[in-house]
Amino acid sequence: MQDTCAPKSKALLTIPEALEKIRLAIQSIQQSETVPLNKALGRILAEPIYSPINMPFDINSAMDGYAFSSVDKPGQGTFTLQCIGTSWAGEPFQGKLQSGECVRIFTGAVLPPKTDSVIMQENVQVDGNSIFFPDDTAIHDNVRYVGEDVQQGSCLITPPKRLTVSDISLLASVGVANVSVKRALKVAFFSTGDELVALDQTLSSGKIYDSNRYTLQGLLGDVNVTATDMGIIPDDKQLLEDSLLAAAKDFDVLITTGGASVGDADYVKEILERCGEVNFWKIAIKPGKPLAFGKIGVSYFFGLPGNPVSVMATFQQIVAPALRQLAGESPSKALRITATCTSTLKKAAGRQEFQRGILSQDDDGNFWVVSSGAQGSNILSSLSRANCYIVLPSECTGVNVGEKVIVEPFSLLLGSDGFGE
Ligand code: AMP
Ligand code: MG
Repeated sequence: MQDTCAPKSKALLTIPEALEKIRLAIQSIQQSETVPLNKALGRILAEPIYSPINMPFDINSAMDGYAFSSVDKPGQGTFTLQCIGTSWAGEPFQGKLQSGECVRIFTGAVLPPKTDSVIMQENVQVDGNSIFFPDDTAIHDNVRYVGEDVQQGSCLITPPKRLTVSDISLLASVGVANVSVKRALKVAFFSTGDELVALDQTLSSGKIYDSNRYTLQGLLGDVNVTATDMGIIPDDKQLLEDSLLAAAKDFDVLITTGGASVGDADYVKEILERCGEVNFWKIAIKPGKPLAFGKIGVSYFFGLPGNPVSVMATFQQIVAPALRQLAGESPSKALRITATCTSTLKKAAGRQEFQRGILSQDDDGNFWVVSSGAQGSNILSSLSRANCYIVLPSECTGVNVGEKVIVEPFSLLLGSDGFGE
């Protein structure tokens, strides 16, 4: 059998190759915990959930109107029934209907015994208790049947699904108050670099604000882990090593930014080699070539590049799928669509590129994408303007105006203004 992970003559790994190495290396967490439903959004379901009840629980009305029996409708022509009471939502009609009678009913109210149809109030004429039904009155209409949404005992959601708002609504509707979910991943992240200062400090020449920890905090929120900000570590080999070894005792995943390259102050790979295991180090993407993946103790380790745009791109393409796998979620691919490019894009062959773009859709439904500006891996303003990546394959040597390109929209949280013009 071909080993898809065998290094190809020192060629950099492609993203699918890197993801396959990660897939083989990562063991999903097994522990689960029970949480109340209002804490379950975004968690990974650990056990299947079966419905304790039928939904709807009772046969009930879909409209405000009058409940009647189809037996009282003549073969053709109008007919009149006497209204003998009301069925309210939450307060069913208690009396008994005889032939020729109907009941005022509101949306969600239980249909009284012997009734099987509801006519909308707009379609009848009312004179005291006499209700005049038109000759086109439909029978068995405007009725919600027991179990038409969910049957008692049926499986509502199968693991390992990440619970969405709609899942939470469904579970609440059948009275499921607690759910068993995989325990949350514990992720620690560090910035490394002598030049970095925190936002509450004054900037002096040679220093820069540490933006990467803010980027990571946001990106980790998107995958719903318990994220711990470990601050800035200077380019001090011993300090970095001690910090990583200590954190490896407490966290499932460690993420650093910076120092992953080959400069004299880049210690990440060396430390990973000495204190842990390097699985891979470089991948063929731009921005973001240096990216170390491995283990320190029992923690998985991702050493991301320092450049801010590379942090975001490598996190989204490599780290996020890895965290989803580790959390026990079933794999899914990011949505990609084809759009017509209205900019000239420069690119050299060799690496897959994620260029920042602004995607829009015109009134005819066509997708258009324009470059959001300069593409250097330090340029955050064009990232902030962008709402998508223009994904260019490694062999691509540039794009002319009017060519079709593949576009990957950012998730709602990360995107700017949606896709309108
Ligand atoms: P490095 O990978 O450490 O060589 O860093 C590459 C570039 O990213 C350098 O210009 C760094 O100053 C910059 N950089 C590294 N870490 C951060 C950070 N936390 N926030 C902003 N820029 C950073
Ligand atoms: Mg550095």
